[in-house]
Amino acid sequence: MPKGRQPRVVVCGGGWGGLTTAKYLRRLAPKTEVVLVERNPVFFSCPVSNKWLVDMVDTSYLMHDYLQVSERHGYKFVQAEMLEVDRSAKTVVTTQGMIDYDYLVLAPGIRYNYEAWFGNDARMANATRSRFPAAYVTNAEHIALKKALHAFKGGDWVMTLPPPPQRCPPSPYERACMVAWWFKKNKIKGKVTILDHKDGIRPIGPGFRTAFQELYKDYITYVPNAHVREVDPFNRTIKTAAGDVRFDHAVLMAPHQAGDIAWKAGAVGINAQGKPSGWADVDPQMLNLLQDRDVYVIGDAVGQVSPQFQFYPKSGHVANKHGQIVAAYIAERLAGRSPGTVLPDNLCYMMVNGEPREAISVQFDYKINDKGVIEQTQIDDNQRRAELVTENFRWAGLKFDDMFS
Ligand SMILES: Cc1cc2nc3c(=O)[nH]c(=O)nc-3n(C[C@H](O)[C@H](O)[C@H](O)COP(=O)(O)OP(=O)(O)OC[C@H]3O[C@@H](n4cnc5c(N)ncnc54)[C@H](O)[C@@H]3O)c2cc1C
Repeated sequence: MPKGRQPRVVVCGGGWGGLTTAKYLRRLAPKTEVVLVERNPVFFSCPVSNKWLVDMVDTSYLMHDYLQVSERHGYKFVQAEMLEVDRSAKTVVTTQGMIDYDYLVLAPGIRYNYEAWFGNDARMANATRSRFPAAYVTNAEHIALKKALHAFKGGDWVMTLPPPPQRCPPSPYERACMVAWWFKKNKIKGKVTILDHKDGIRPIGPGFRTAFQELYKDYITYVPNAHVREVDPFNRTIKTAAGDVRFDHAVLMAPHQAGDIAWKAGAVGINAQGKPSGWADVDPQMLNLLQDRDVYVIGDAVGQVSPQFQFYPKSGHVANKHGQIVAAYIAERLAGRSPGTVLPDNLCYMMVNGEPREAISVQFDYKINDKGVIEQTQIDDNQRRAELVTENFRWAGLKFDDMFS
């Protein structure tokens, strides 16, 4: 796709960040051609998927069509994998061919770093991914996890939680609650063991701890500081710094990193030890690459933005806000103006009980202090209650509307 006369923005990734960027760009800069490149044929939402695992919502609630929404908003949807980025030529290579760009927005989400567990042993990584998927990226893993849960007859169900930063930190605890609730409701003699890399539950720790004790005392065992040392998907064993376990089924979450294309675009930074940080190095306020103003990275792939709290929460809420913000930045630049800084916020609801339906929540706000540093304030709402479930579904409805209507 060589460029025509119109300016062109190419967006990589039709997830929470990329979809929002494409829609808002068309609205704010209608003379701009927008091309969305996404490898999957349909959208599937990770948010709300823990409730879908236990049949609280239908698949149709999470799945959305890309072609219809792209037609509605007037951007081009290209179903393809983006393979390479040539920043000097301002061209990307996809499985469908090459596309020129004026601005590029990378919203690839995360990838699993199985190398941290298995080095170059692809057999171990593939066996882990196919037998005990994490279901933390949008593909067939969610279906596999749901099938495994619905076929589970009893025994030890183990979850390894990755070290921070990770996609949606509270969601593994929500998933543990939903699985435990499923066992309880269906009288399955199953036990959920959470092997957490962290030294405690964060965020909304008290809310989750109370739910574990009051609702799932006989179902959930929480193990902090369980740094994974060895995983064997064939013998179903995990060795950790806090002890070794055997499992009947497991949700094996390797550490998270920015998606492949961030690496291929040369966007990933270097940490204090001189090693790849795993996340994209961006201007904390403008979200463009430090070494290339015309390439933006948004959503989960973004690296450190503040010495105070380091990373934005890797959430759909933040990715959606980033999409709106970056679309406005690019629209301003296309109009020949300098954009002013806009910061996101974050809001997450986590369901902890299925009967009655109850949730807890956490909210984050951001501002720039007088030293020019982004500061975070966090409000945990640990009091589980039905009202937060209603708010959760209202939130999801508004976000789906924002991306798809
Ligand atoms: C179980 C679970 C529960 C969650 N609950 C919540 C919640 O309640 N609230 C909340 O705010 N967040 C939640 N999240 C987090 C949320 O899903 C992510 O933070 C959000 O999806 C990040 O958006 P993104 O655009 O950065 O990445 P994604 O939404 O993952 O989108 C990335 C897209 O890019 C595509 N892609 C990647 N590389 C390429 C390539 N090279 N070529 C073409 N396409 C590519 C992928 O296929 C994908 O569609 C949850 C996550 C999980 C796993």
